[in-house]
Amino acid sequence: MVHFVGAGPGAEDLITLRGARLIETADAIIYAGSLVNPALLSRARTDCEIFNSAEMTLEQVIAVITAPERASREIVRLHTGDSSIYGAVREQMELLDAAGIDYDVCPGVSSFCGAASSLRAEYTLPGVSQTVILTRMEGRTPVPEREEISSLAAHGATMVIFLSTGMLDELSRRLLLGGYADDTPAAIVYKATWPDERILRTTVGEMAAAARDAGISKTALVTVGNFLGGVHDRSKLYDPAFTTEFRQGTATEQITE
Ligand code: SAH
Repeated sequence: MVHFVGAGPGAEDLITLRGARLIETADAIIYAGSLVNPALLSRARTDCEIFNSAEMTLEQVIAVITAPERASREIVRLHTGDSSIYGAVREQMELLDAAGIDYDVCPGVSSFCGAASSLRAEYTLPGVSQTVILTRMEGRTPVPEREEISSLAAHGATMVIFLSTGMLDELSRRLLLGGYADDTPAAIVYKATWPDERILRTTVGEMAAAARDAGISKTALVTVGNFLGGVHDRSKLYDPAFTTEFRQGTATEQITE
């Protein structure tokens, strides 16, 4: 059985209990060495075979999994964050389907959630934004034209931009083109939840210069929007006057600042 496991964003204790158990019992682990914290591998059995997919092609990964000597073995394919986000997991599933090999998926904490925790932020603030757009700039992997950054920016929603820290001049230009103001807050989170995490609080207009000054050009997320600002409404759910399925609203006044 093959288990696709989300390793979490970086900190070695941010993997799920299920993911940790799968690592502990695996006969073989293929991990994404470019971003998965190698400390997670210390949970593996001493006789577990370990492969670093950063140095492998899709075909080589599948060849390891389908090798006859690993038939009926427990194999963990360890992806950074959650495997459903830029995980290149579907192409592996299709080849496993074709080979008749069964698999399941164990979710992980995506780096966009890790970044929110590092920022102590809420992406979906009432009165500010109720939508989070996860996207990227096109690199060697193209992005469909209808998903071009400036058209997504036109929503003014919270944006979390992956895989784009090396293109911040162009990213900033497209965000401005889409309608964000120059002084809209932005935060760049480098290696969220890792011991060497860094946070740059900046603006849409200044983000490229801020990253250059800090020497950050990869392994970071760019978060953009007024969720990083100070103004928002209170939630309805916890409003004293609001009645829900579980609680009768009262006339009690809200606490105000
Ligand atoms: N599946 C992963 C994303 C893989 S794409 C997830 O769910 O997080 C790789 C990109 O994710 C990196 O270029 C970077 O933009 C982002 N990333 C991954 N881990 C990160 C971390 N700990 N801090 C900041 N960005 C991270």
